[in-house]
Amino acid sequence: LQRETDRLVRLSNDLLFLARLDAAPLSWMPEQINLSDLLGAVIDQSRIVAEQKSITVNTHMPASVPITGVADHLIRLFLNVLDNAVKYTHAGGQVTVTARGSRAEVIVTIQDSGPGIAPDHLPHLFERFYRVERGRGSDTGGSGLGLAIAYQIARAHSGSIRVESKPGAGSSFIVTLPLAPEA
Ligand code: ATP
Ligand code: MG
Repeated sequence: LQRETDRLVRLSNDLLFLARLDAAPLSWMPEQINLSDLLGAVIDQSRIVAEQKSITVNTHMPASVPITGVADHLIRLFLNVLDNAVKYTHAGGQVTVTARGSRAEVIVTIQDSGPGIAPDHLPHLFERFYRVERGRGSDTGGSGLGLAIAYQIARAHSGSIRVESKPGAGSSFIVTLPLAPEA
């Protein structure tokens, strides 16, 4: 009962968040953010679960990646993607987070050594309630909103998220965000 209640509380929070984002995508207060610091904090949090599964989390990023955005929302975006990487990767696997800045944007790749995703699922992954293993019951406990939320947050920051994956060859989620204009 406790587990089911937790799941329903999370579901209603996620739905509320999406509804708010749909209604008012531009009504937030953007802040100056160092994306490397933000990613570092998100990764530290994911490590707690990763360590329980003996999954190694590697990071490659520059010390400073200045962007403009809503920190709470960006944390939510990257937590959702990292949560998936850790959740769907087998014990003993690897997750690697890389941030690479170019002239106008930063590209963050979250790569895992998990099972990968078949090509027919890839176009639907960012749809609300879409789950690849929906027929297998609720063993991994999600509702299929995590990536839909990540997609909306990336878009609201004038960025994007996409996936590259092959069954048996792991998955890479690639988030692109505009860099803050130089002062
Ligand atoms: P929620 O995030 O709401 O708890 P969820 O994880 O099932 O539930 P999404 O995060 O939206 O939902 O992901 C959608 C589906 O995409 C997942 O159910 C899973 O099948 C697949 N998926 C996502 N990330 C990965 C990954 N790194 N490796 C393999 N499959 C993945
Ligand atoms: Mg998820």
